[in-house]
Amino acid sequence: MRVALDVPLPRLFDYALPEGTTAARGDRVTVPLGSRRQTGVVVETEIESEVALDRLKAIVEIRNDAPRLPPDWLELMRFLASYYQRPLGETVIAALPPRLRSVKPLPKKALVPSGETSAADFVSPHLLNAEQEHVVGAIAAKLGRFAALLLHGVTGSGNTEVYLHLIAHVLARGEQALVLVPEISLTPQLEARFREAFPRTRIALMHSALEDIARTGAWLGAARGEAGIVLGTRLAVLAPLPKLALIVVDEEHDSSFKQQEGVRYSARDVAVYRAKLAGCPVVLGTATPSLESWYNYRQGRYERLELSRRAAPGAELPLIRTIDLREHSLDEGLAPAVLAAIGERLARGEQSLVFINRRGYAPVLTCEACGWCAGCTRCSARLVLHAADGRLRCHHCGAEEAIARACPTCGNVDLKPMGRGTQRVEETLAARFPGARIVRIDRDSARRRADLVRTLAELRRGEGDILVGTQLLAKGHDFPKLTFVAVLNADAALVSTDYRSGERLYSVLSQVAGRAGRRSERGEVLIQTRYPSHPLFQALLEHDFTRFAESQLDERRAAGFPPFIFEAALRAEAAELAQAMAFLNDARSLVQAPEGVNVFDPVPNIITRRAGWERAQLIMQSGSRPALQTYLAGLSARLFETPARAVRWHLDVDPIEFD
Ligand code: ADP
Ligand code: ZN
Ligand code: ZN
Repeated sequence: MRVALDVPLPRLFDYALPEGTTAARGDRVTVPLGSRRQTGVVVETEIESEVALDRLKAIVEIRNDAPRLPPDWLELMRFLASYYQRPLGETVIAALPPRLRSVKPLPKKALVPSGETSAADFVSPHLLNAEQEHVVGAIAAKLGRFAALLLHGVTGSGNTEVYLHLIAHVLARGEQALVLVPEISLTPQLEARFREAFPRTRIALMHSALEDIARTGAWLGAARGEAGIVLGTRLAVLAPLPKLALIVVDEEHDSSFKQQEGVRYSARDVAVYRAKLAGCPVVLGTATPSLESWYNYRQGRYERLELSRRAAPGAELPLIRTIDLREHSLDEGLAPAVLAAIGERLARGEQSLVFINRRGYAPVLTCEACGWCAGCTRCSARLVLHAADGRLRCHHCGAEEAIARACPTCGNVDLKPMGRGTQRVEETLAARFPGARIVRIDRDSARRRADLVRTLAELRRGEGDILVGTQLLAKGHDFPKLTFVAVLNADAALVSTDYRSGERLYSVLSQVAGRAGRRSERGEVLIQTRYPSHPLFQALLEHDFTRFAESQLDERRAAGFPPFIFEAALRAEAAELAQAMAFLNDARSLVQAPEGVNVFDPVPNIITRRAGWERAQLIMQSGSRPALQTYLAGLSARLFETPARAVRWHLDVDPIEFD
């Protein structure tokens, strides 16, 4: 038997099958490795091993506490390992829930199949409108074969409603639907909508915040075909699904679909590949498609279906305007028009949201006498001032210290916070609107998931007058009483060197703006900016995503960026920057880049030092995906062969973060 094991090497291991036992591809097995036992997965049987039979170690146990992993799942794993350049063993084992990776048997309780299966029992919450009806009909007609569909629906247009109706079709056929969402544990309302719509259907929830046992149970329900709906974050795309008939990727543009460690897969891209394998439709739903998906649509690879209007009776898209910061002076970071708008909402008993994508009190603590700024000793980054608990924190490595009493270089005791974050805005608003109930939502206020979920539920019920929040608030929440949104500090993204920053800004702003006025009261959005005539804002004001996407594509085409070329990064981390750079320079000369593959010079990362590691990267590009893949395969084989002295390295295929 050839067995995949979780070792950081691109190799498989051969074992003998004990007399009188049988095993097949996809069986989980316990095997000896060195002095320990490990869980592995049989990937080939009756092999010709290079090791003589009498010297092969024997499999200790063939595990039957979970269903055998099916051939299409193994094929998916082979694709992941080869496309993302990771060892097959690591890929296979990491795709299993933690309990199934362990050599300990599953508890008896988990072994018993639930016996329940899903019943088709759809309770439709609404009558579909004409646009929704058309979209559902068009997609349902494609069940049973592969099709990639871009469901482009403006915020509040009923994308979720469409998913529910499509799933009803899948369940009626006795099959399974996989629904991927960026962050499920924060949106129990989504889960509730599914449970309400399908009261007798078994729904397997999958996300990393689940307890091991719940996660295993969900995985088993999926793998046995008992769960009609599998609803989860990116890892759910790796579950075995014997009756898979539909994949939905909700908020397909969201960067959290990309795994940032180990096998660095994009769950959205894997979903499309998986739909091809399974011969089923994949629906990529969003109000702001990723440029990759938009380009695929423009190239005719994806079909685009549109929901152009908000679905709730009387609901309209919000009115978005900019406030020119060159003409209006600010009061503690807030324009007079913003303060006035919040005041009006307060008087009417409606909610306002102040969006600022920076947590903490101020991003810098500085000495005006000598120019010193508080910095992290382990990262090339500033420490963020957290006034609420009197600490300075590094947002890159988590290091923290007490607030300095005096400047360490000149002794000046008058240190000043510069710039502002959510805490400072909260403080300003509390001073301006003394009677208002102000709720701050960011990763600090939401240290515990349960607290955040509770706060969000309170806000939905209309408790709280002014919300101050980061991106955490942008996604998927529906606050009926929210009618006004102010956006502070959006400009940094306009001048960023990252070519994706415009795409991200457009998407987060339309998400945030989309929180306002989801009922009959039309929402209003004010964006404070020094660049009011920037084309991004012009398109956003007119809700004209197409214009924005086309202009972005033109820029990317001209500059030679994805989606017009394919990209990978080789990253290295070491105690000294010189070591990381030397490693990358050596790597460059290990394998000759073929015609059409462009390997750039290694460069230090923008945040060069993080958590004590000096970091650098090498970017590789090609107009041909196969050419880049061939080169990467050769490079990665050589890198695994060559012991990397003091350097940690990894390859990132289709990278999206470069800091
Ligand atoms: P999205 O996923 O695009 O944000 P939702 O499916 O959440 O949209 O729908 C937005 C709002 O409109 C929800 O409150 C939903 O209940 C409502 N809604 C959706 N479809 C309809 C419909 N056909 N008739 C009435 N209300 C609808
Ligand atoms: Zn000083
Ligand atoms: Zn740090």
